[in-house]
Amino acid sequence: MSWFVRKDKGIQTPTEMKREAPDGLWYQCPNCKKAMHTREHKLNAYTCVHCNYHEKIGSEAYFSILFDNNTFTELDANMMSADPLNFTDTKSYPGRVKATMMKTGLKDAVRTAYGPMNDQIVTVACMDFSFIGGSMGSVVGEKIARAIDHAIASRTPFLMISRSGGARMMEAGYSLMQMAKTSAKLALLSQARLPYVSLLTDPTTGGVTASYAMLGDFNIAEPGALIGFAGPRVIRETIGKDLPKGFQEAEFVLEHGFLDFIVDRKDLKDKLSSLFGMLE
Ligand SMILES: [Zn+2]
Repeated sequence: MSWFVRKDKGIQTPTEMKREAPDGLWYQCPNCKKAMHTREHKLNAYTCVHCNYHEKIGSEAYFSILFDNNTFTELDANMMSADPLNFTDTKSYPGRVKATMMKTGLKDAVRTAYGPMNDQIVTVACMDFSFIGGSMGSVVGEKIARAIDHAIASRTPFLMISRSGGARMMEAGYSLMQMAKTSAKLALLSQARLPYVSLLTDPTTGGVTASYAMLGDFNIAEPGALIGFAGPRVIRETIGKDLPKGFQEAEFVLEHGFLDFIVDRKDLKDKLSSLFGMLE
């Protein structure tokens, strides 16, 4: 059985000679179950090369897709949530925020930044669903409001990328106030005659749909994104009827006049550039 036993002692392999087998080398599409190289998936803007399924991604990935050479300046990067209501459910709200920060490396459910997109400076706010379901609390509202202020002051177009379950219940009424605040700021942006494009990604629901996500000069969405205010179960029980097929999917929402168009993520950057160029 000598082939199971290392006969020579002191065999060393330098790190650079070791065969590479890093984690996550392959990505399996949750929709068609086919595999592809993670690098290929990333180069394809995190969409499936086989079925075009759009993987749910966060601000880090969107910024890398949109900003030229991934160069951008983040705004209010360290703004963190307070606990105005002294709220506790299964754990205390500050405890939940802290645990989520540790897990995600994020400070809250939105990141805001400005930088060049095809050589044009754009201000972008992008939500992160991994942070308490992309819920909109005071920090989300305040960061978006300040990003709009920045867009007005620097006379740059504003892009909002939404992915959210709605208002943050741990901040109750304070969350709902963010709807009015962000909407008012968007009105100022409009008065300053600066373009606003809202991109709705999977899923965009609740108070986010009921405020800034639907207020764009153009409201656009990714293919297959779930878009709605209340969930289908609540609606079904309220109206007492079965819902049509594809209800609340981007394609259905587009057909019923709530969206301007659906954009493939691979075309997103160029489409946005031509849109901003047109609206200038
Ligand atoms: Zn697929």
